[in-house]
Amino acid sequence: MKFRNFPMVPRVVYGRGSFDQTSEIIEEKRNKERPFIFLVDKVFKDKELSKNIPLQGKDIIIYIDTTDEPKTKGIDEIRDNLKEEFGIVSGIIGIGGGSVMDAAKAVAIMMNNEGSSTQYQGWDLVKNPAVYHVGIPTISGTGAEVSRTCILTGPERKLGINSDFTPFDQVILDPALTKGVEKNQAFFTGMDCYIHCIESLTGTYLNAFSKSYGEKALDLCQKVYVQKSEWDDESDEDLMMASWHGGMSIAYSQVGIAHAVSYGLSYLLGTHHGVGNCIVFDRLEKYYPEGVKEFKYMVEKNKIEIPQGICKGLSDEQFDIMINVSYGMVPLWENALGKDWQKIMTKEKLRALYEEM
Ligand code: NAD
Ligand code: ZN
Repeated sequence: MKFRNFPMVPRVVYGRGSFDQTSEIIEEKRNKERPFIFLVDKVFKDKELSKNIPLQGKDIIIYIDTTDEPKTKGIDEIRDNLKEEFGIVSGIIGIGGGSVMDAAKAVAIMMNNEGSSTQYQGWDLVKNPAVYHVGIPTISGTGAEVSRTCILTGPERKLGINSDFTPFDQVILDPALTKGVEKNQAFFTGMDCYIHCIESLTGTYLNAFSKSYGEKALDLCQKVYVQKSEWDDESDEDLMMASWHGGMSIAYSQVGIAHAVSYGLSYLLGTHHGVGNCIVFDRLEKYYPEGVKEFKYMVEKNKIEIPQGICKGLSDEQFDIMINVSYGMVPLWENALGKDWQKIMTKEKLRALYEEM
């Protein structure tokens, strides 16, 4: 057995209000001639957070529209524009949810790697280290702040750039930034973390490393979504750390069926990651009995509506596209169901599952 040698985020700041320290944190990486580029979720345009971004010299903010999750084309365009305008930059700072954090990681990689980001979707295809990049999450759950991947939709596939150069050089975890997320969205992204835990903890790839992080993340999710009667500041803090631990848990194992199936929805229909996972997980009682039972309880308790009927009226060809995308996620299936996964989840069964959604 060859053990994999993973990088981790080398520097992290945690604390309510820590965002205010951004300027001094990035200062040591600043080259006076080269700007910092802040990629910021468009939802913050004209908001307090944007006013507090410590711009200096030629620094700029690029607002990212997250109506669609990041695409390879958009990443290449941002890189091309930055190269043309500045040549070299001091660093890329992503402020937002999983979409913006992934965009920041991808742009940082592409600043130092030629061609299109589509060339690097996969495992360990990146040749040169990324430029300095910082992640500042504003919604909790994806674990993108800690992971070794940035998920992009390209013309041929939805797949991450998984590489040793992908993780952030610095993360700033400020739970105060997650205030103001719309209730359903906060739940869907929070459930991404819950589902990471269940898929990791019940998977065949499980080991003590993953288990230790997964169990802690699951405890924290249960504390905020099951045990507590009201959401409070402490819940924001707990969920931010749950996201971190959930991300760490899957680093050394894998996710499972909900993710594999949700990738198909996302590729064909553009369904966002969090809600897509919830739509799928809701129907996986047979595979994750305890997790799905608790999930349904949390949905009810928090008065969340899971979208229904999203696959209604799709053609055979469209179902095939989703099935093929999903079937391509081999490690996820293998983690969930073992080496013989194709015998357990036949294409017919998968089609029937999609038809229910
Ligand atoms: P997101 O980043 O798309 O954000 C969801 C919505 O919340 C957006 O409309 C955004 O504008 C809004 N929002 C974010 N912060 C807010 C705030 N503080 N106040 C008000 N609104 C706010 O969603 P997400 O669920 O965080 O991320 C999903 C993305 O993450 C997908 O692209 C998915 O592929 C990716 N992902 C990556 C990893 C990884 O390891 N790299 C893991 C899981 C998911
Ligand atoms: Zn996920």
